[in-house]
Amino acid sequence: MQHDLSRFTYGAYQSLLRQLQQRDYVFVDFPAAPRMLQDGARFVLMRHDIDMDLAKARRMAEIEAENHVVATYFFLVRSDHYNVFSEEGTGEVRRILNLGHRLALHFDCAAYPEASISELADACRVECEMLERWFGQSVDIVSYHRPSPLVLTGDARLSHPRPHSYLPLFTKDMHYCSDSRGMWRYGDPLRQAAFRENRPMHLLTHPIWWNDQPVDPRACLDQFLARRALALQTSLAKNCVVYENPNVMQKSA
Ligand SMILES: [Zn+2]
Repeated sequence: MQHDLSRFTYGAYQSLLRQLQQRDYVFVDFPAAPRMLQDGARFVLMRHDIDMDLAKARRMAEIEAENHVVATYFFLVRSDHYNVFSEEGTGEVRRILNLGHRLALHFDCAAYPEASISELADACRVECEMLERWFGQSVDIVSYHRPSPLVLTGDARLSHPRPHSYLPLFTKDMHYCSDSRGMWRYGDPLRQAAFRENRPMHLLTHPIWWNDQPVDPRACLDQFLARRALALQTSLAKNCVVYENPNVMQKSA
């Protein structure tokens, strides 16, 4: 299938936000959803699962703040792609939170092979508490990274005592729409019946796929890798004189 890359630019994202606002949708956080549903309100849960790139997450956060939109950012704690506890990572997450957005946990169950449901819930709790302690904001919701068939059952015990984003409340009681590798998995959210009928929507994006100009998904990953390599080189040079000056290595060899 041909990717419609024009939809994955920051300009397109801003346009999506504005069209939702023009239709009088309000942007709320996850704890507000049950009450909003009960009241029959017209609302959006704007969710971002941060799999790779904190800088791109912060860029989305800035666009939202400029448009008076509140979103929820789900961060991994045990990823090889970024570190929310590093100086650089903490700075990016704090910038996102200072713009008024909400902190949440993106949980990778693959980091806990063979874990039972209660062991996964225990691990979720520990990771949530790490984020809460470090950033000083409560974590009220969890999303699972690359959900297994077990997670997709929506079992509430998986993240007990906090709710998770695969609960029927968030996937069945409202319209759920996700981007995936550079395309909206079920089509453009604004062309769907839920939008035409003003029904509540749960929109998930992965900021890695979004750019100033249309970029092929593979190129998005290559660009990310180049940025990370440069950051790692800078860090190595700061921490290791041998790396800073290759001649030192030759002389001592
Ligand atoms: Zn993920």
